[in-house]
Amino acid sequence: MFENLSDRLGGVFDRLTKQGALSEEDVRSAMREVRVALLEADVSLPVARQFIKAVEKKATGAAVTRSVTPGQQVVKIVHDELIAVLSGEDDPGELRIDNAPAPVLMVGLQGSGKTTTTAKLAKRLKERDRKKVLMASLDVNRPAAMEQLQILGTQIGVDTLPIVKGEDPVTIAKRARTQASLGGYDVYMLDTAGRLHIDEELIQQAADVRDAVSPRETLLVVDGLTGQDAVNVATEFDEKIGVSGVVLTRMDGDGRGGAALSMRAITGKPIRFVGLGEKMDALETFEPERVAGRILGMGDIVALVEKAQQTLEAEQAERMMKRFQKGQFNMNDLKMQLEQMQKMGGMEGMMSMMPGMGKMAKQMEGAGIDDSILKQQIALVNSMTKRERANPQLLQASRKKRIAKGAGLEVSDLNKLLKMHRQMADMMKKMGKMGKGGMMKQAMK
Ligand code: GDP
Repeated sequence: MFENLSDRLGGVFDRLTKQGALSEEDVRSAMREVRVALLEADVSLPVARQFIKAVEKKATGAAVTRSVTPGQQVVKIVHDELIAVLSGEDDPGELRIDNAPAPVLMVGLQGSGKTTTTAKLAKRLKERDRKKVLMASLDVNRPAAMEQLQILGTQIGVDTLPIVKGEDPVTIAKRARTQASLGGYDVYMLDTAGRLHIDEELIQQAADVRDAVSPRETLLVVDGLTGQDAVNVATEFDEKIGVSGVVLTRMDGDGRGGAALSMRAITGKPIRFVGLGEKMDALETFEPERVAGRILGMGDIVALVEKAQQTLEAEQAERMMKRFQKGQFNMNDLKMQLEQMQKMGGMEGMMSMMPGMGKMAKQMEGAGIDDSILKQQIALVNSMTKRERANPQLLQASRKKRIAKGAGLEVSDLNKLLKMHRQMADMMKKMGKMGKGGMMKQAMK
């Protein structure tokens, strides 16, 4: 579904991964090409710009591990950033169809594939989720559309609400609800009328139906081939009616696919499904990881870099362990621990991840450490010299004053930190003596 973009990016990264060392200019020129490729795929300019900026920032700061090339690392960063663009924290995943009968409202322009998608989703709910589904067409202006849904219903074995001439959309919606309740249906899907363009009447009709049935999901169907227009349509529908997700149709074509990349960033709405053909089975859940993988087509490299990162982290932990076991735990180690804690979401995050560290965490709490002062502690270590960090016991009163001042804190704060360091160093030594099966080893696993 992203053939062109995929080919373009493939070319850029093939060149990049073949190189050994990478200069900043190499990365920048590759990113220029990526940017052009994105724009040609009809990704909106602000989204493409933001994307490149994020990648460049991460690429310059990335630690290069021995077993992967810088180019491979850039591929991984681009991969992660693609996922970020395509997804959001509150992505709902599957359709929310609890509290039977759950109303699902389908909206969109005429020709977007709304009726087809309604039937595809109904089939999926019936076959995959074993739900009893009722479909109803609210397109009172186009009898042909009503009949089309009925034909599709027969084809996939899903019931449709009997057509009654002369009813308005709200009346049909309410009749669907009653029938769904009486008939023991899990879901009733309402296929609203479409127009060629968004107009007052269309919006009003959809809003009236929405108010009448309070849908669990309001899915907007848009034609993926229309690129930026699809994104604009989504923005407008969401402002006027409020949608819970987007279905991008016609993603089976070799179209440019940029709508998928811009959709989330611009509308803030998740793409929930993609249509991949006219057949009733041609519907897929939208999974950012998988789509990012398809766009890049470099799964091997991504896996390689992930593996290398894990190995590197394990090696670092191993080295640290060895030193701790020998009773070596200086202020730099302490600083690393503090920074690690910050990354892991403070004390609580760390304790939940490392059950064996519970005791140490308690001691640190006793020494007055909590998340809000991690930063201060790190600042204190930073204002020590290299020698002082290696041998904090050498600190004289005058230096202590200077260090505390350098971090904008009091000498008493520094003393607390030093006390904590001594306690931790003692504990490390004890744990080291417990040997390979010791607590730390367990905890670091
Ligand atoms: P509506 O007016 O929005 O209800 O659109 P329809 O559901 O009637 O679809 C219009 C046309 O698009 C039909 O010929 C469908 O078969 C076709 N269509 C719908 N979804 C897809 C898709 O994902 N891929 C392709 N290739 N065609 C589709």
